[in-house]
Amino acid sequence: VPGEPWWTLEAPFDDAAPPLERDLDLDVAIVGGGYTGLWTALALREREPALRLAVLERDRCGEGPSGRNGGFLHGYWASLPRLRDHFGDDAAVRLARASEGAVAAVRALGDDVWLREAPLLVLSAAPGQDAAVERLVGAAAAVGAPEEAVAVGPGELPASPAFRRGARVRDGATVQPARLVRALRRAVLAAGIELYERTPALSVDDGVVRTPGGTVRAPELVLATGAWSAGRPPLARWLTPFGSSIVLTEPVPELLAEIGWTGGEPIVDGRAFVHYFRTTPDGRVLMGSGSGPIGYRGRVDDRFALDGPAAGRAAAGLRRLLPALAEARIEHAWGGPIDVSTDQIPFFLTLPGTRIHAGAGYTGNGVGPSWLGGQVLASLAGGREDEWTALPLVRRQLRSLPPEPLRRLGGGLYRAAMIAAEEADERGRRPGLAARAGVALPRLLGLDVGRR
Ligand SMILES: Cc1cc2nc3c(=O)[nH]c(=O)nc-3n(C[C@H](O)[C@H](O)[C@H](O)COP(=O)(O)OP(=O)(O)OC[C@H]3O[C@@H](n4cnc5c(N)ncnc54)[C@H](O)[C@@H]3O)c2cc1C
Repeated sequence: VPGEPWWTLEAPFDDAAPPLERDLDLDVAIVGGGYTGLWTALALREREPALRLAVLERDRCGEGPSGRNGGFLHGYWASLPRLRDHFGDDAAVRLARASEGAVAAVRALGDDVWLREAPLLVLSAAPGQDAAVERLVGAAAAVGAPEEAVAVGPGELPASPAFRRGARVRDGATVQPARLVRALRRAVLAAGIELYERTPALSVDDGVVRTPGGTVRAPELVLATGAWSAGRPPLARWLTPFGSSIVLTEPVPELLAEIGWTGGEPIVDGRAFVHYFRTTPDGRVLMGSGSGPIGYRGRVDDRFALDGPAAGRAAAGLRRLLPALAEARIEHAWGGPIDVSTDQIPFFLTLPGTRIHAGAGYTGNGVGPSWLGGQVLASLAGGREDEWTALPLVRRQLRSLPPEPLRRLGGGLYRAAMIAAEEADERGRRPGLAARAGVALPRLLGLDVGRR
């Protein structure tokens, strides 16, 4: 099936839970059965076992990005420079430390999820990417945590003529993402939490969720609808769906041994539309490119499951970044929508005048942070003020994105310009005037996206 993730072939869906076919009265209803909704349900159950809880999922749990992603599992140390700019040093470090808990939480789900802990390599593959690596290493040192991001030279990276230098970020791991969402779903069912699949929320108002088969009444509602939140006011102000695309090779363990990439390290380059790449236990290489498409008016359409140009960019990235794998056949390609926030950092809030709690904006790094998001949303829905609600992601002020059609047009111009600028940089050329102007566009609008 075009656009079907290999993850799902490797770990098929369990039988779907029955859809809702009656009215329900609950304490908390959670809309969305991806990682965020499922972690929220588990956190609530653990904290208050007597709560009446249900998760309502439009399709099947993991049909969205939670079953389609690259499986990079890390928190916020790799984002330290951005966090320092936005929140200051103390809050940035508090957030980075809090985000580390995701690995232990995933480990506690059992061996089934292919958790492999290995440092995340953030590397430069072009002159214009060197500064980002240096900023990351410098930021860790500046906050008194130099061990979190250590500078490494090309000799310590997998062999590639493209790799110039890197930072080894201690907080890193990979998982089989579909296995992770299956394990979370099973944990939810085992905890006695009601789960309704193929149950879309048609409307969500304070205290009431309408679905085709019944109405759910609950004083506390949690919206965990990921990129689909971009179509919903007021979240739409701060979110846009943006595609990420993946290609996966046949198994090539002998080529991985030749280039010395046998430790399972997840890797990202320094592109604004990042290349992310990792291996699988059977020696395949996954290469992702976070480079489009863009949703209009917050809509997630069929293009996101498989976008030819973005998959082509992922394949080109594979050939350039890992030329030793030139013979490796690409066997699978797929994509999905990521929920990009105005400043590429997620946000959590209670919608004004309601008890609807929402979180989104992971911007392509949600596998680990959705665990954190689950703790935050459980605190908001539980009416608690605690360490989770004190995190700087919660109830923060964000700038609004420009309105449509400016948002879509501006996003398209910026994407084309940035891709041209980054390709020129990789070829050792100076980007043209149009590309330089397009790259500056978000800054002119006061937006902190796609910074290099
Ligand atoms: C191709 C790709 C690669 C990625 N790679 C990585 C990576 O390597 N590492 C990383 O950290 N992050 C990665 N991400 C991002 C990561 O997958 C997400 O941040 C994460 O899965 C978000 O989980 P979520 O539960 O918030 O959202 P989702 O997984 O999107 O779950 C939301 C759920 O809500 C449901 N829903 C929507 N509307 C309704 C409704 N009206 N009623 C009921 N249910 C509804 C959807 O069906 C969906 O199941 C990637 C994303 C993509 C697309």
